[in-house]
Amino acid sequence: MPKDCIFCKIVAGQIPCFKVYEDEHTLAFMDINPVNPGHCLVVPKIHAPNLFESEDAELARTMAAVRKVSRAVQKALNPYGLNLLQANGPGAAQSVFHLHIHIIPRERDDDLRMNWGLKAGNKDEIAKISEKIRD
Ligand code: AMP
Ligand code: ZN
Repeated sequence: MPKDCIFCKIVAGQIPCFKVYEDEHTLAFMDINPVNPGHCLVVPKIHAPNLFESEDAELARTMAAVRKVSRAVQKALNPYGLNLLQANGPGAAQSVFHLHIHIIPRERDDDLRMNWGLKAGNKDEIAKISEKIRD
């Protein structure tokens, strides 16, 4: 594991997260700077910096978990819509270089743009929403 990768540290349990789903190969947790309530991330446990350097099998497992967690978000929050997003490289506003898929619940008229600014969310609110999704 690259020693400065924050998502590898989360996978290893070295730093905390609001976990919503875990299996042998993947982990899903809440984004701490949610662009909308319920914004979460799914990562493969094995480090790959981006889509280009990921393995087919890892990607397939990650996407299966993405669908599982998306269904849970849909059921728990019943959002107006739901987007997936995955960034590759600084030019695409990738800020953490461990492959991850954003699951973004949409709100009516939220006018969300692709490259939003990072703004810390309220931890209590994030924790409450993570419980709903996890359940
Ligand atoms: P990207 O800009 O596509 O690389 O997305 C990285 C995401 O990781 C951003 O939305 C950050 O808010 C999120 N993030 C960074 N550090 C953490 C963390 N420790 N726990 C949860 N989410 C994080
Ligand atoms: Zn990593």
